[in-house]
Amino acid sequence: LTEKLSRLVKEMRGQARITEGNVADMLREVRMALLEADVALPVVRDFVARVKEKALGQEVMGSLSPGQALVGIVNRELAATMGQGVSDINLAAQPPAVILMAGLQGAGKTTTTAKLAKLLIEKRKKKVLTVSGDVYRPAAIEQLKTVTKQAGAEWFPSTPEQKPADIARAALDYARKHYFDVLLVDTAGRLAIDEALMREIKDLHAILNPVETLFVVDAMQGQDAVNTAKAFSDALPLTGIVLTKTDGDSRGGAALSVRHITGAPIKFAGTSEKIDGLEVFDAERHAGRVLGMGDIVALVEQVTAGVDMAAAQKLAAKVKSGETFDLNDFLAQIQQMKQMGGLSSLMDKLPTQMAAKAGQMDMDKAERDIRRKEGIIHSMTPLERRKPDLIKATRKRRIAAGAGVQVQEVNRMLNEFGQMQDMMKKMKGGGMMKMLKRMGG
Ligand code: GDP
Ligand code: MG
Repeated sequence: LTEKLSRLVKEMRGQARITEGNVADMLREVRMALLEADVALPVVRDFVARVKEKALGQEVMGSLSPGQALVGIVNRELAATMGQGVSDINLAAQPPAVILMAGLQGAGKTTTTAKLAKLLIEKRKKKVLTVSGDVYRPAAIEQLKTVTKQAGAEWFPSTPEQKPADIARAALDYARKHYFDVLLVDTAGRLAIDEALMREIKDLHAILNPVETLFVVDAMQGQDAVNTAKAFSDALPLTGIVLTKTDGDSRGGAALSVRHITGAPIKFAGTSEKIDGLEVFDAERHAGRVLGMGDIVALVEQVTAGVDMAAAQKLAAKVKSGETFDLNDFLAQIQQMKQMGGLSSLMDKLPTQMAAKAGQMDMDKAERDIRRKEGIIHSMTPLERRKPDLIKATRKRRIAAGAGVQVQEVNRMLNEFGQMQDMMKKMKGGGMMKMLKRMGG
């Protein structure tokens, strides 16, 4: 397109910049979406104000409307806020590195303790001891014993007759004498913020001097996640958050609230009741869910906005000129799928009959799959992306470790890429561009 022509197109689209006037309605929608996702009101206010400030004056790219562009900004800001400072569990301490679990009753502390134990044993080859300071319910101590066995870690006995502080000292002593790398300390459930129990966990913190103090919070917790988070973060120097029950059907707005209030990074997400249901927190994926873009942008608009025509044309030109289709192009394709608002939000917009059929597919799994592929490619060097043939056993192992997946998964992705590459070779010529045009509307 000549410059004049492209300017004309922009004018026809209406506005080339985000202004107070053209996004006021959209901002209201975003605010509603966040509230519906159970993000606490003060956090929503703060967040929306920040987004607005960032968005005003920004140029609207390509075929997007200002509203669509704004959703993009909101989504990125959500991911950036929730993903801030994300890091692995810190074990940099004179062994045993102590990890203290804090949170309301039913948040998932005991379950997460065992999940973490398993993860530290398997991924980081640590010798792990668990102990329960929950002396108020005998069943709670038994529960930890059972799940610790499942995790393959050692459990340090405690009884309801003991004081939590004494249990902590004894477990720490035992862990030192027997050269444990990590001591995971599960604590008593609090139904609500309770002064005595808060004092107790503060005492435990002083005795144990933990390298990680993790606040465990249920993703389904609504507005009062803020109050809980504030109370715990006032009482304890939290080093991280574990967001549990992300497999539930809530939109998980608690993540944003809790991140905002505590300032601590969200380290893990609980994804099932099972012992291996713990994943490193993925802010981008969670952002899509909190925002529930499907509610805001209609399907057609999403698809139109999702396909970045400039990138698509570049890709088509590449195919045409016979250059090889490499992993960077593959990644661009994956990302375009994501830009369309995520598979499940597309599903939300389908007519019911079709959705019922599509419902038989596991969309969450499909999305997770896309994210993992992305993760794998991100773990590659630029050279590897350009020349995938270089990726042999050693590199595969490094890439797999970097992406936190099994080597088989890297193989599977490379196979899929190979198939795509073949297809691209066959499509050399006009076919590709036609297909993309159709997708772009
Ligand atoms: P605690 O009181 O904080 O120790 O909480 P528990 O660990 O006993 O967990 C309370 C309930 O939540 C149990 O039924 C767990 O199985 C369940 N739970 C914990 N984490 C998750 C999760 O990530 N997903 C699902 N679906 N359930 C979970
Ligand atoms: Mg418990």
